[in-house]
Order: sequence, then C-alpha cells, then structure tokens
Amino acid sequence: MYALAIHGGAGGGPRTPDAGAGEQAYRYGLEHALAAGRDVLERDGCALDAVEAAVTVLEDDPAFNAGRGAVLTLDGTAELDAAIMDGERLRAGAVAAVRCVRNPVQLARRVLEGSPHVFLVGEGAERFAEESGLSPVPNDYFITPDRQEQLAARAESPLGTVGAVARDHAGRLAAATSTGGMMGKRRGRVGDSPVIGAGTYADNASCAVSTTGHGEWFLRTVQAYDIAARMRYGGATLTQAVIDSIELRLPRLGATGGLIAVDRLGSIEMRYNTQAMFRASVRSGEAAEVHVY
Ligand code: ASP
Repeated sequence: MYALAIHGGAGGGPRTPDAGAGEQAYRYGLEHALAAGRDVLERDGCALDAVEAAVTVLEDDPAFNAGRGAVLTLDGTAELDAAIMDGERLRAGAVAAVRCVRNPVQLARRVLEGSPHVFLVGEGAERFAEESGLSPVPNDYFITPDRQEQLAARAESPLGTVGAVARDHAGRLAAATSTGGMMGKRRGRVGDSPVIGAGTYADNASCAVSTTGHGEWFLRTVQAYDIAARMRYGGATLTQAVIDSIELRLPRLGATGGLIAVDRLGSIEMRYNTQAMFRASVRSGEAAEVHVY
C-alpha cells in the first residue's frame, strides 16, 4: 500500500467569483505533480523518489511559489529554499538562498546523497550544484511578470509554496518542501521550508510532514517536528497531532498556515487554518483527490 499527498501552499482571502480560471491552473499543476509521484510509487519506487518527482513538477510550474514563478525578494530577485528527508534512515538534505539552481529539491537530494552535510546555503550550495552536475540557470529564469507585478503592488504573499509527503509499499516515509519564501523578503531571509524539523520532517517511527504558511512562526514552533513528537512521545494519532497543532495551538499564537502529513499506516492529513490550501492526495487503489478550499 502506498500513500502520497502534495500541497501548493496555504493562505489567501475568501474565494472570489473570478477565481475560477486561476484555480484551474493550480488544479492542473497539482494533478500533474501527483501523477509524477504516483508513477514512482506504482512502480514500487521509494517514497524519497516520489516526493522528489512531485516537487520537481511543481517547481517547474510557474503558478507555484517554488522554482520558476517563485516570489521575489525586495530587490526583485529570486532566492530559493528546499529540503528533502528520508524517514527510514533519517537522512536529510537542504539548501537555502540559491539563485541559479533550476530545481532546488534536486540539489537538496544531492546534498542528502552526495555530501557529508545536511544544509548548504548560497554560493556554497551553488558551487556544490555545479560539482554534482546540475547546470546553472540565470536568475531571470525564475522571474515571471506576475510576480514582478505582485512585488510592485506589495501584494500579500500569495499561496504557492510546494511540498510532498509519501509512504511507499515498503512502509518508508519521506517529505520534501520547496519555496521562494515570502514576497518582498530581505535577501538572505530563510523561512521554515528548508529547515529540517520546522518545514520538513520524516521519520518512519512517526510521520512525514511538509508545512506551508508564515515561516517565521513555523520556525519558532518547530512545526513539522512538533507533529512527529506528539506522536512519538505523546502517543497521539496523526489526526490528533495535526488537529491539536494546526487548529488549536497555532491559532492561539496567531500563526497562519497548514501542512500535509502521512504516517506509517498510510493515513493522510491535510489541514490548514487559513482560507485555502492547494492540496491533493492519492492512495493505492483509490481515486486521486484535488482540493483548494
Ligand atoms: N513557509 C514559507 C516561508 O515562510 C512560505 C509559504 O509557505 O508560503 O518561506
């Protein structure tokens, strides 16, 4: 049995009557990403490959705030963050503030597989990307007219950070998250997404989690690990852990966002305390589900 869930960010205001066309583009993107991850799991591939495949598709889709189409820094450039974690052996790879790596999640995977480190940032991460055979793209590759307009209008950070969690046939769990961060962020700002335990976490003994929302809060609450700890030390089920955290604790703190999670039995949770979260899931033998509100 396998289970896969993906998200394309949480946030947003109330649904507007003209939201239809835009929403369709997101749904299409989610369906493609879900199919990419599901293909891996259907072929008995591992959870780690599935989350990397799904997040790669979302990074290449300019509708989402990750890879191409990422939100921009105050000075109009793109700085990208990503992480990936293997719940079987607690291996992890993460990168932050990279400016010329087309698929940051793939670089994070190379950090996991091909370096003795967990977290590389900026220039050092980019040098490692070149050494591991990922050819650089210009920063312009990531910048879209939509994002430039949103920056000029000082628009609230739209939805769009992406992530995936999976449980494969062998019971292995994995999580990955990728983002451009928050619109108008200072250069060098790093949010929760690439920080292991905050935005991304996986441990076969509990669950795999990918978060989205106000990153500063998710860093302070060590959000992804909080879910795993509630299960591991507090004996909570996945559902209890996610409800207590997302629907009770975070709102009391004023923290907005959501997360997706899967446990070793293949149960999936996708919850948020904002107006919307782009999300999709599938389990072996079941039909795929795609939701926005
Ligand atoms: N959590 C991301 C960050 O703070 C943003 C988001 O999920 O929308 O970088």
